Amino acid sequence: MSTPTTKEPPWALIEKVIGLERRKGFRDEAVVGGLEAFLNLHWPEGAAIVRGYASMAPAERERALAQLEEALDARKREVFRSLKVPIEEAAGVGPTTAKLLRKLGIETVEDLLTTFPRRLEDRSVRKPISSVQDGESVTIRGTVRAKSRIKARPKLELIKVAVDDGTGVIFAIWFNQPWIWDEIEQGKEYSFFGKVLIRFGERQMENPIWEPAGRDFHTGRWVPIYSSTEGLSQGTLRAVIKRNLARFGPLIEDLLPEDVRRRNKLLPRCKAIGGIHFPEGPGAFETARRTLAFEELFLLQLGLALRKKRWREEGGRALEPDPEMVRKFFEMLPFELTGSQVRALREIERDLRAPYPMMRLLQGDVGSGKTVVAAGACVMAISAGAQAAVMAPTEILADQHFLVFQELLEGLSIRVERLLGSIRGRERDRILEGLSRGEVDLLIGTHALFQEGVEFRDLGLAVIDEQHRFGVVQREALSKKGKGTNILVMSATPIPRTVALTLYGEFSISVLSEMPIPKKNVRTVWVSESRRGEVYEEVERLLLEGEKGYVIFPLVEESEEMDLRAATVAYEELSERFAWAGVGLMHGRIPPEEKRRVMEEFRRGKIRLLVSTTVVEVGLDVPDATFLVIEHADRFGLSQLHQLRGRIGRQGQPAVCYAIADPTTEEARRRLSAFRDIEDGFRIAEEDLRIRGPGDLLGTAQHGFVSRLKVADLIRDLGLLESAREEAFRVAREGAPGYLVEEVERRFGEALERLGV
Ligand code: ADP
Ligand code: MG
Repeated sequence: MSTPTTKEPPWALIEKVIGLERRKGFRDEAVVGGLEAFLNLHWPEGAAIVRGYASMAPAERERALAQLEEALDARKREVFRSLKVPIEEAAGVGPTTAKLLRKLGIETVEDLLTTFPRRLEDRSVRKPISSVQDGESVTIRGTVRAKSRIKARPKLELIKVAVDDGTGVIFAIWFNQPWIWDEIEQGKEYSFFGKVLIRFGERQMENPIWEPAGRDFHTGRWVPIYSSTEGLSQGTLRAVIKRNLARFGPLIEDLLPEDVRRRNKLLPRCKAIGGIHFPEGPGAFETARRTLAFEELFLLQLGLALRKKRWREEGGRALEPDPEMVRKFFEMLPFELTGSQVRALREIERDLRAPYPMMRLLQGDVGSGKTVVAAGACVMAISAGAQAAVMAPTEILADQHFLVFQELLEGLSIRVERLLGSIRGRERDRILEGLSRGEVDLLIGTHALFQEGVEFRDLGLAVIDEQHRFGVVQREALSKKGKGTNILVMSATPIPRTVALTLYGEFSISVLSEMPIPKKNVRTVWVSESRRGEVYEEVERLLLEGEKGYVIFPLVEESEEMDLRAATVAYEELSERFAWAGVGLMHGRIPPEEKRRVMEEFRRGKIRLLVSTTVVEVGLDVPDATFLVIEHADRFGLSQLHQLRGRIGRQGQPAVCYAIADPTTEEARRRLSAFRDIEDGFRIAEEDLRIRGPGDLLGTAQHGFVSRLKVADLIRDLGLLESAREEAFRVAREGAPGYLVEEVERRFGEALERLGV
């Protein structure tokens, strides 16, 4: 590649002038002396585009300015590409180093320059040798007076040098690093950083970091420490970054539009990149980090905003709900809606009436009453003459929704049908025919809803319950069943706001923040395995009192067979012991008919103890269940535990949850104490985020997405995320420049694709 020699034009300044000229109405007053003269000075090719600007008519000027902007955009693209040269072509990078860098995910020079340090180490404290204290970490500077080599044991060789700075002497000692002998010369001056040891009155530093005096690169300052890989030392990595920063630094241009940068008090990009590698201290480092984190979040949000815009431009239908039918629905409800339910419904109605497709996330802790909101949304869509679909993640939940919706919609002359994978033959044909004719108003089911052959006459609203259980492909497939279909996604996983804004960035969010029934009633007890007997004695007592509840076993793919066996064995034991109370078994492999029977009997109370794997985790609403035993609770995630707990005490009656576990890791211990001590779903989710990191919180597609964030921290940077989002959506509205669109695609395109947005 060619080394850049000429200085780049001041793009930010040129952009500013163009903006100003436009705002002032193309009067050639943005710069003294006129636009053409200004460009001649800074960017001759640009001047050629607007030749004769001073004597143009305003309309002509507007066109010329647009052309100028296009050229500028093209140049910017080029400039950004010029930093994307393969890492093999970076200065001072041979084939071996290149391979190691690639192992760290560094593929281009830009990746290298934006490699973010894991932390800073304070090597900035300098002291005269005479005043160093035992135990402190300092940089000292002095002349090497004497060197000695000591074979302490067959496998232990020491190199010991005496360093003198005129105030005193300190001994630097290295173990088994023979090459140092030749590198350090007697009589020369060096800087050393390390921890001081004072032994029998002699000052020492073991394995200090050192470099020629005056260089102040590895010592004498705050030094960035990077995540590295075996074979690539911190020193090498740091040196490679330094060399390339010197060489490519002048090519670093601002990614963020100038006004965005200034409004948010961010550094120019080149300063920020310099600042993370050569910070004056933690404060300066944080300022630089903030700029890069903002940039990253901005690009990500821009990606989401552009997709949302495209989606909106595809067009949707404005639905006109029939006020009479909607009013009747609300009047028939057996309870008063909570304030946040009312608010959510109002937001949904506004979306439905608008000429673009709704993309709304309805978020609410378990028991916050999402179902009735979904039903209200369906009534609105159906009363406007469209069809609606509700998709649940399991057959059990689809069944439950079918029952609940039928009850809620009774008397509204709405035809509801249920479609499951297990429904076949004539029954299936009958449903599908009704659907394509538009006689079925509401279809409730599992992923069977978007299989081939399922054709709606006019799907106006798709409700997706418990979104995190669904693959993205499915979300897409369902929305494709209708053109411009409105989508309402419901999630009981209370995702922290930062994560929601990132993963559902293109969605509007309604939150159900109040509980219809205050949830102070569920007591959580964490019990060790050795006290399992007592737990089941308690279960016996509860069953004798007429209560009903669950025993839950973990089930993970990797050990599915074993897990199933554990649940089955427990079921057999418990069904012998508690035969009089009715014991049922539930897991994913049980045939649908059998599942339905078990659930029905559990609801009715013929079965009062349900042994189950996590299939009951989400959404299940059996209001009179009051106890829950979670076996091997340490194998569940925190949010998952919380979901499970949401199955009991649903009417506000006292309930108890026993988590049986002897956790073996610190993380599991933290999880269980958090579960025991925190009741609030949002706080649980935040704690989960803290314990596991954002990547693990959701599925793998989402993980790839979040892990693309190199600098931003989803826990700390909420404020930054909010402003980046606002700016990005504004830029998308006003039309994003091409170089930014390109950059968004490069960084996040694939991840966004996989998310299905
Ligand atoms: P989730 O948000 O977990 O899906 P549901 O929609 O299943 O919660 O509602 C939980 C329970 O609360 C249900 O039994 C439901 O009938 C009841 N419920 C919902 N809204 C209200 C309300 N405003 N007042 C009283 N009970 C309500
Ligand atoms: Mg639900």
